Amino acid sequence: MNINKLSKRLETVSSYIIKGSTFADIGSDHAYLPCYAINKGIADYAIAGEVVEGPYQTALQQVEDAELTKKIFVRKGDGLEVIKPNEVDCITIAGMGGGLITTILEKGKDKLEGVKRLILQPNIGAHSIRSWCVENNWEIIAEEILEEDQKIYEIIVAEKMLTNRLYSLTEASILLGPFLMKERNPAFIKKWTDELKQWELILARLKKAGDVQKVVEKKESLERNILLVKEVLL
Ligand code: SAM
Repeated sequence: MNINKLSKRLETVSSYIIKGSTFADIGSDHAYLPCYAINKGIADYAIAGEVVEGPYQTALQQVEDAELTKKIFVRKGDGLEVIKPNEVDCITIAGMGGGLITTILEKGKDKLEGVKRLILQPNIGAHSIRSWCVENNWEIIAEEILEEDQKIYEIIVAEKMLTNRLYSLTEASILLGPFLMKERNPAFIKKWTDELKQWELILARLKKAGDVQKVVEKKESLERNILLVKEVLL
């Protein structure tokens, strides 16, 4: 992977960046995504945000080497603290857990003023992002699921609801993804077939573990999820 050739995962993320926009890539690491998006003429300007010194220095160097310092601004900071309200049209956050992405959005809510689109690529725990979208009235407008190097990645694209209409999702679509569960592509089937097998193994073990309150709750939650997934898969 380099600034001219992204992984399939990041290239798919880039395909949802609003054309001609200014976007912030949070947790940019090597800054491949902003460099690629500017070089390909997808976005006009970008902010590459990084909280860790090493990757921050790598991003600075990468942007300098690519001669893009007039178009990409590398900033060090935690989550959305690197941007000001109304500064960007679009935010990408890729390659982290869904829980961390949700925390970044929640902590930086005041910075989402003026942001039209979020492009989020959780490595795990996509459901927590979908719940956050419902709670904060961001409508999921597209989703992708793809397999690369034997790993399965989900991408969630959301836009702020501009009307007074309240956004809602069913329990199944929070877990599986409203678009993904309709499309049911091979990566989706593989992900949930594997997940189902894991859950059934855990459930079998829990059934032998007695009836302590915590175990009962875990069993109930697993049984509920197994049911939801089976209804969609079978
Ligand atoms: N976005 C790139 C990608 O998808 O290939 C890099 C992903 S890398 C696994 C995650 C990056 O996010 C790391 O460089 C890490 O330092 C950074 N990161 C983690 N938490 C962060 C936060 N709260 N704010 C900004 N960056 C963060």
